[in-house]
Amino acid sequence: MTKTVKIGNVTIGGGNPVAIQSMTNIPVLDTDATAEQLKQLQLADCDIVRVAVPDIESAKCISRLKTFTSMPVVADIHYDYRLAIKSMENGADKIRINPGNMSADHLKKVADCARHHGVPVRIGVNGGSVNREFLNKYGDKRTALTESLLHYVSEMEKLAFYDIVLSVKSSDVRETIAVNRAVASRCDYPIHLGVTEAGPAYQGIIKNSVGIGALLADGIGDTVRVSLTAHPVEEVRAARTLLNALGMGRGVTFVSCPKCGRCGIDLEKYARAVYEYVKDIDADVKIAVMGCEVNGIGECSDADLGMAGGKGKVAFFKHGKVFRTVDEAQALQLFFFEIDNLIGKE
Ligand code: SF4
Repeated sequence: MTKTVKIGNVTIGGGNPVAIQSMTNIPVLDTDATAEQLKQLQLADCDIVRVAVPDIESAKCISRLKTFTSMPVVADIHYDYRLAIKSMENGADKIRINPGNMSADHLKKVADCARHHGVPVRIGVNGGSVNREFLNKYGDKRTALTESLLHYVSEMEKLAFYDIVLSVKSSDVRETIAVNRAVASRCDYPIHLGVTEAGPAYQGIIKNSVGIGALLADGIGDTVRVSLTAHPVEEVRAARTLLNALGMGRGVTFVSCPKCGRCGIDLEKYARAVYEYVKDIDADVKIAVMGCEVNGIGECSDADLGMAGGKGKVAFFKHGKVFRTVDEAQALQLFFFEIDNLIGKE
Protein backbone atom coordinates (compact mmCIF):
# COMPACT_ATOMS: atom_id res chain seq x y z
CA MET A 1 0.00 0.00 0.00
CA THR A 2 1.35 3.43 -0.91
CA LYS A 3 1.44 6.45 1.36
CA THR A 4 -1.37 8.95 1.02
CA VAL A 5 -0.82 12.38 -0.47
CA LYS A 6 -3.39 15.16 -0.33
CA ILE A 7 -3.65 17.30 -3.45
CA GLY A 8 -6.12 20.06 -2.63
CA ASN A 9 -9.42 18.26 -1.94
CA VAL A 10 -8.30 14.95 -3.50
CA THR A 11 -6.35 12.29 -1.62
CA ILE A 12 -4.39 9.76 -3.63
CA GLY A 13 -2.54 6.64 -2.55
CA GLY A 14 -3.25 4.40 0.43
CA GLY A 15 -5.98 2.51 -1.41
CA ASN A 16 -8.00 5.59 -2.38
CA PRO A 17 -9.74 5.41 -5.77
CA VAL A 18 -7.39 6.05 -8.67
CA ALA A 19 -7.67 9.75 -9.52
CA ILE A 20 -8.02 10.91 -13.12
CA GLN A 21 -5.88 13.77 -14.32
CA SER A 22 -5.65 15.82 -17.45
CA MET A 23 -3.82 18.92 -18.55
CA THR A 24 -5.10 22.07 -20.22
CA ASN A 25 -3.51 22.58 -23.62
CA ILE A 26 -3.65 26.33 -24.09
CA PRO A 27 -1.57 29.10 -22.44
CA VAL A 28 -2.98 29.92 -19.01
CA LEU A 29 -2.44 33.60 -19.87
CA ASP A 30 -5.55 33.17 -22.01
CA THR A 31 -7.58 32.96 -18.84
CA ASP A 32 -11.02 32.87 -20.47
CA ALA A 33 -10.17 29.96 -22.77
CA THR A 34 -8.42 28.12 -19.94
CA ALA A 35 -11.42 28.69 -17.67
CA GLU A 36 -13.62 27.15 -20.36
CA GLN A 37 -11.40 24.06 -20.54
CA LEU A 38 -11.42 23.78 -16.76
CA LYS A 39 -15.22 23.84 -16.84
CA GLN A 40 -15.32 21.14 -19.53
CA LEU A 41 -12.86 18.96 -17.64
CA GLN A 42 -14.77 19.26 -14.40
CA LEU A 43 -18.02 18.36 -16.19
CA ALA A 44 -16.26 15.30 -17.63
CA ASP A 45 -15.44 14.27 -14.04
CA CYS A 46 -11.74 15.01 -14.09
CA ASP A 47 -10.27 14.84 -10.57
CA ILE A 48 -7.07 16.84 -10.90
CA VAL A 49 -5.96 19.29 -13.57
CA ARG A 50 -2.44 20.33 -14.51
CA VAL A 51 -1.43 23.53 -16.24
CA ALA A 52 1.84 24.50 -17.89
CA VAL A 53 3.71 27.30 -16.14
CA PRO A 54 6.40 28.54 -18.52
CA ASP A 55 6.87 32.00 -16.98
CA ILE A 56 6.16 34.13 -13.91
CA GLU A 57 3.03 35.70 -15.42
CA SER A 58 1.56 32.21 -15.91
CA ALA A 59 2.37 31.31 -12.29
CA LYS A 60 0.51 34.43 -11.14
CA CYS A 61 -2.58 33.28 -13.12
CA ILE A 62 -3.08 30.22 -10.92
CA SER A 63 -4.95 32.04 -8.15
CA ARG A 64 -7.43 33.39 -10.71
CA LEU A 65 -7.78 30.02 -12.46
CA LYS A 66 -8.67 28.42 -9.15
CA THR A 67 -11.74 30.63 -8.92
CA PHE A 68 -13.15 28.78 -11.95
CA THR A 69 -12.82 25.24 -10.65
CA SER A 70 -12.90 23.12 -7.52
CA MET A 71 -10.44 20.63 -9.06
CA PRO A 72 -6.96 20.78 -7.54
CA VAL A 73 -4.64 22.68 -9.88
CA VAL A 74 -1.14 21.33 -10.47
CA ALA A 75 1.61 23.60 -11.81
CA ASP A 76 3.90 21.97 -14.35
CA ILE A 77 7.39 23.43 -13.98
CA HIS A 78 10.48 22.96 -16.08
CA TYR A 79 13.92 24.22 -15.00
CA ASP A 80 13.13 27.45 -13.15
CA TYR A 81 12.61 26.97 -9.41
CA ARG A 82 11.18 30.50 -9.15
CA LEU A 83 8.17 29.39 -11.20
CA ALA A 84 7.53 26.59 -8.70
CA ILE A 85 7.67 29.02 -5.79
CA LYS A 86 5.49 31.63 -7.46
CA SER A 87 2.94 28.93 -8.39
CA MET A 88 2.73 27.74 -4.78
CA GLU A 89 2.40 31.32 -3.54
CA ASN A 90 -0.52 31.64 -5.95
CA GLY A 91 -2.33 28.59 -4.66
CA ALA A 92 -1.06 25.66 -6.75
CA ASP A 93 -2.24 22.46 -5.07
CA LYS A 94 0.73 20.45 -6.30
CA ILE A 95 3.77 21.12 -8.42
CA ARG A 96 5.44 18.83 -10.91
CA ILE A 97 9.20 19.19 -11.26
CA ASN A 98 12.15 17.25 -12.56
CA PRO A 99 14.78 17.79 -9.83
CA GLY A 100 17.45 16.86 -12.38
CA ASN A 101 16.86 20.28 -13.89
CA MET A 102 17.54 22.18 -10.66
CA SER A 103 20.57 22.90 -8.53
CA ALA A 104 20.67 21.54 -4.96
CA ASP A 105 20.19 25.04 -3.60
CA HIS A 106 17.15 25.68 -5.79
CA LEU A 107 15.65 22.30 -4.94
CA LYS A 108 15.95 23.16 -1.24
CA LYS A 109 14.14 26.45 -1.83
CA VAL A 110 11.33 24.55 -3.61
CA ALA A 111 11.08 21.93 -0.84
CA ASP A 112 11.02 24.63 1.88
CA CYS A 113 8.28 26.54 0.06
CA ALA A 114 6.25 23.36 -0.56
CA ARG A 115 6.51 22.41 3.11
CA HIS A 116 5.46 25.90 4.16
CA HIS A 117 2.37 25.82 1.91
CA GLY A 118 1.57 22.13 2.50
CA VAL A 119 1.92 21.46 -1.23
CA PRO A 120 2.99 18.01 -2.50
CA VAL A 121 5.60 17.68 -5.20
CA ARG A 122 5.48 15.27 -8.12
CA ILE A 123 8.93 14.20 -9.08
CA GLY A 124 8.68 13.34 -12.74
CA VAL A 125 11.25 11.86 -15.06
CA ASN A 126 10.67 11.06 -18.72
CA GLY A 127 12.26 8.59 -21.08
CA GLY A 128 12.99 11.35 -23.57
CA SER A 129 14.95 13.47 -21.12
CA VAL A 130 16.67 10.93 -18.88
CA ASN A 131 19.72 12.43 -17.22
CA ARG A 132 22.89 11.62 -19.25
CA GLU A 133 24.92 11.15 -16.09
CA PHE A 134 22.66 8.24 -15.08
CA LEU A 135 22.62 6.85 -18.60
CA ASN A 136 26.42 6.78 -18.63
CA LYS A 137 26.58 5.23 -15.19
CA TYR A 138 23.99 2.46 -15.70
CA GLY A 139 24.26 1.88 -19.43
CA ASP A 140 20.62 1.03 -20.10
CA LYS A 141 17.78 3.49 -20.15
CA ARG A 142 15.35 1.58 -17.94
CA THR A 143 17.82 1.35 -15.09
CA ALA A 144 18.88 4.96 -15.63
CA LEU A 145 15.25 6.11 -15.37
CA THR A 146 14.61 4.06 -12.24
CA GLU A 147 17.82 5.06 -10.51
CA SER A 148 17.53 8.74 -11.42
CA LEU A 149 13.98 8.90 -10.04
CA LEU A 150 14.96 7.13 -6.82
CA HIS A 151 18.01 9.37 -6.51
CA TYR A 152 15.79 12.46 -6.71
CA VAL A 153 13.50 10.94 -4.08
CA SER A 154 16.47 10.51 -1.75
CA GLU A 155 17.50 14.13 -2.43
CA MET A 156 14.06 15.29 -1.32
CA GLU A 157 14.13 13.00 1.71
CA LYS A 158 17.51 14.47 2.71
CA LEU A 159 15.68 17.79 2.80
CA ALA A 160 13.15 16.12 5.14
CA PHE A 161 10.50 16.43 2.44
CA TYR A 162 8.24 13.41 2.06
CA ASP A 163 5.05 14.79 0.52
CA ILE A 164 5.94 13.20 -2.77
CA VAL A 165 4.24 11.69 -5.82
CA LEU A 166 6.34 9.88 -8.40
CA SER A 167 6.10 9.55 -12.13
CA VAL A 168 8.29 7.90 -14.67
CA LYS A 169 6.95 8.01 -18.19
CA SER A 170 8.10 6.93 -21.58
CA SER A 171 6.62 6.85 -25.06
CA ASP A 172 7.68 3.19 -25.08
CA VAL A 173 4.94 1.10 -23.48
CA ARG A 174 7.16 -1.78 -22.34
CA GLU A 175 9.66 0.66 -20.88
CA THR A 176 6.87 2.44 -18.98
CA ILE A 177 5.66 -0.84 -17.52
CA ALA A 178 9.13 -2.13 -16.59
CA VAL A 179 10.33 1.07 -14.96
CA ASN A 180 7.15 1.65 -12.96
CA ARG A 181 7.27 -1.92 -11.70
CA ALA A 182 10.87 -1.38 -10.62
CA VAL A 183 10.06 1.90 -8.88
CA ALA A 184 6.97 0.48 -7.14
CA SER A 185 9.00 -2.44 -5.78
CA ARG A 186 11.45 -0.06 -4.11
CA CYS A 187 9.39 2.67 -2.50
CA ASP A 188 5.88 3.39 -1.29
CA TYR A 189 5.15 6.87 -2.59
CA PRO A 190 2.01 7.18 -4.74
CA ILE A 191 2.66 6.83 -8.45
CA HIS A 192 1.21 8.86 -11.29
CA LEU A 193 0.90 6.65 -14.37
CA GLY A 194 0.92 7.48 -18.04
CA VAL A 195 2.46 6.70 -21.39
CA THR A 196 3.80 9.96 -22.74
CA GLU A 197 3.81 11.22 -26.32
CA ALA A 198 1.31 8.46 -27.06
CA GLY A 199 -0.08 10.12 -30.18
CA PRO A 200 -3.59 10.94 -31.41
CA ALA A 201 -6.68 9.41 -29.85
CA TYR A 202 -6.88 5.96 -31.43
CA GLN A 203 -3.21 5.01 -31.05
CA GLY A 204 -2.78 7.01 -27.86
CA ILE A 205 -5.68 5.32 -26.10
CA ILE A 206 -4.39 1.88 -27.03
CA LYS A 207 -0.83 2.63 -25.92
CA ASN A 208 -2.00 4.13 -22.64
CA SER A 209 -4.48 1.33 -22.03
CA VAL A 210 -1.81 -1.30 -22.44
CA GLY A 211 0.77 0.56 -20.33
CA ILE A 212 -1.45 1.97 -17.61
CA GLY A 213 -3.73 -1.07 -17.68
CA ALA A 214 -0.93 -3.57 -17.10
CA LEU A 215 0.33 -1.56 -14.15
CA LEU A 216 -3.09 -0.96 -12.58
CA ALA A 217 -3.84 -4.67 -12.94
CA ASP A 218 -0.63 -5.27 -10.96
CA GLY A 219 -1.90 -2.96 -8.23
CA ILE A 220 0.51 -0.19 -9.22
CA GLY A 221 -0.66 3.39 -9.73
CA ASP A 222 -2.65 5.93 -7.75
CA THR A 223 -3.47 8.53 -10.36
CA VAL A 224 -3.48 8.40 -14.16
CA ARG A 225 -3.25 10.66 -17.15
CA VAL A 226 -4.03 9.24 -20.58
CA SER A 227 -1.87 11.62 -22.62
CA LEU A 228 -3.39 12.21 -26.06
CA THR A 229 -2.85 14.59 -28.92
CA ALA A 230 -6.50 15.53 -28.55
CA HIS A 231 -8.82 17.69 -26.49
CA PRO A 232 -8.14 17.15 -22.75
CA VAL A 233 -11.72 15.97 -22.19
CA GLU A 234 -10.91 12.98 -24.43
CA GLU A 235 -8.12 12.10 -22.00
CA VAL A 236 -10.58 12.04 -19.12
CA ARG A 237 -13.12 9.94 -21.04
CA ALA A 238 -10.41 7.48 -22.02
CA ALA A 239 -9.14 7.26 -18.44
CA ARG A 240 -12.65 6.67 -17.11
CA THR A 241 -13.27 3.92 -19.63
CA LEU A 242 -9.91 2.36 -18.80
CA LEU A 243 -10.64 2.37 -15.08
CA ASN A 244 -14.10 0.95 -15.74
CA ALA A 245 -12.60 -1.84 -17.82
CA LEU A 246 -10.56 -2.84 -14.78
CA GLY A 247 -13.51 -2.57 -12.41
CA MET A 248 -11.79 0.39 -10.71
CA GLY A 249 -13.86 3.20 -12.07
CA ARG A 250 -17.09 4.98 -11.56
CA GLY A 251 -19.75 5.69 -14.08
CA VAL A 252 -21.74 3.49 -16.40
CA THR A 253 -20.25 0.23 -17.64
CA PHE A 254 -21.35 -0.07 -21.25
CA VAL A 255 -21.19 -3.31 -23.22
CA SER A 256 -22.26 -4.20 -26.72
CA CYS A 257 -21.76 -7.43 -28.60
CA PRO A 258 -19.47 -7.74 -31.62
CA LYS A 259 -22.46 -8.65 -33.82
CA CYS A 260 -22.74 -11.76 -35.94
CA GLY A 261 -25.12 -13.30 -38.47
CA ARG A 262 -27.82 -13.70 -35.80
CA CYS A 263 -28.10 -9.95 -35.29
CA GLY A 264 -31.59 -8.60 -36.02
CA ILE A 265 -31.02 -4.83 -35.73
CA ASP A 266 -28.72 -2.03 -36.89
CA LEU A 267 -26.52 -2.76 -33.91
CA GLU A 268 -23.81 -0.19 -34.60
CA LYS A 269 -26.38 2.60 -34.72
CA TYR A 270 -27.88 1.53 -31.38
CA ALA A 271 -24.54 0.91 -29.71
CA ARG A 272 -23.17 4.30 -30.78
CA ALA A 273 -26.30 6.16 -29.72
CA VAL A 274 -26.63 4.45 -26.33
CA TYR A 275 -22.90 4.80 -25.63
CA GLU A 276 -23.10 8.54 -26.37
CA TYR A 277 -26.10 8.79 -24.06
CA VAL A 278 -24.48 7.05 -21.09
CA LYS A 279 -20.77 7.80 -21.40
CA ASP A 280 -20.75 10.77 -19.02
CA ILE A 281 -23.37 9.49 -16.59
CA ASP A 282 -21.96 9.02 -13.11
CA ALA A 283 -23.91 5.94 -12.01
CA ASP A 284 -22.64 2.50 -11.06
CA VAL A 285 -24.78 0.52 -13.52
CA LYS A 286 -24.17 -1.81 -16.45
CA ILE A 287 -26.00 -1.15 -19.72
CA ALA A 288 -25.97 -3.64 -22.60
CA VAL A 289 -26.81 -3.38 -26.29
CA MET A 290 -26.95 -6.84 -27.89
CA GLY A 291 -27.65 -7.99 -31.40
CA CYS A 292 -30.08 -10.85 -30.71
CA GLU A 293 -32.34 -12.15 -28.00
CA VAL A 294 -31.23 -15.76 -28.43
CA ASN A 295 -27.77 -15.27 -26.96
CA GLY A 296 -27.60 -11.60 -26.05
CA ILE A 297 -29.83 -11.69 -22.99
CA GLY A 298 -28.10 -14.69 -21.47
CA GLU A 299 -24.63 -13.32 -22.25
CA CYS A 300 -25.49 -10.11 -20.45
CA SER A 301 -27.58 -11.47 -17.62
CA ASP A 302 -25.59 -9.31 -15.20
CA ALA A 303 -26.64 -6.10 -16.98
CA ASP A 304 -28.90 -3.75 -15.01
CA LEU A 305 -30.57 -2.82 -18.27
CA GLY A 306 -30.18 -4.09 -21.79
CA MET A 307 -31.70 -4.16 -25.24
CA ALA A 308 -31.56 -7.07 -27.64
CA GLY A 309 -32.64 -7.13 -31.28
CA GLY A 310 -35.39 -9.27 -32.80
CA LYS A 311 -37.33 -9.11 -36.07
CA GLY A 312 -38.57 -5.51 -36.25
CA LYS A 313 -38.76 -5.59 -32.45
CA VAL A 314 -36.35 -4.88 -29.63
CA ALA A 315 -36.53 -6.59 -26.25
CA PHE A 316 -35.58 -4.68 -23.11
CA PHE A 317 -34.23 -6.79 -20.27
CA LYS A 318 -33.02 -6.45 -16.72
CA HIS A 319 -30.74 -9.06 -15.15
CA GLY A 320 -31.53 -11.59 -17.85
CA LYS A 321 -35.32 -11.13 -17.86
CA VAL A 322 -37.27 -9.42 -20.64
CA PHE A 323 -39.64 -6.82 -19.21
CA ARG A 324 -40.73 -5.02 -22.35
CA THR A 325 -40.75 -5.53 -26.13
CA VAL A 326 -41.05 -2.49 -28.38
CA ASP A 327 -41.12 -1.69 -32.10
CA GLU A 328 -37.70 -0.98 -33.51
CA ALA A 329 -38.77 2.49 -34.65
CA GLN A 330 -39.31 3.63 -31.04
CA ALA A 331 -36.64 1.50 -29.41
CA LEU A 332 -34.00 4.16 -28.90
CA GLN A 333 -36.25 6.80 -27.36
CA LEU A 334 -37.91 4.27 -25.08
CA PHE A 335 -34.55 2.80 -24.07
CA PHE A 336 -33.29 6.27 -23.10
CA PHE A 337 -36.43 6.63 -21.00
CA GLU A 338 -35.63 3.32 -19.26
CA ILE A 339 -32.04 4.46 -18.64
CA ASP A 340 -33.34 7.66 -17.05
CA ASN A 341 -35.66 5.58 -14.86
CA LEU A 342 -32.83 3.29 -13.86
CA ILE A 343 -30.52 6.07 -12.74
CA GLY A 344 -33.30 8.14 -11.22
CA LYS A 345 -32.91 11.02 -13.67
CA GLU A 346 -35.87 13.42 -13.80
S1 SF4 B 1 -25.51 -11.31 -29.00
FE1 SF4 B 1 -26.37 -12.38 -30.76
S2 SF4 B 1 -25.84 -11.04 -32.48
FE2 SF4 B 1 -24.52 -10.44 -30.79
S3 SF4 B 1 -22.67 -11.62 -31.12
FE3 SF4 B 1 -23.94 -12.76 -29.66
S4 SF4 B 1 -25.05 -14.20 -30.95
FE4 SF4 B 1 -24.24 -12.61 -32.35
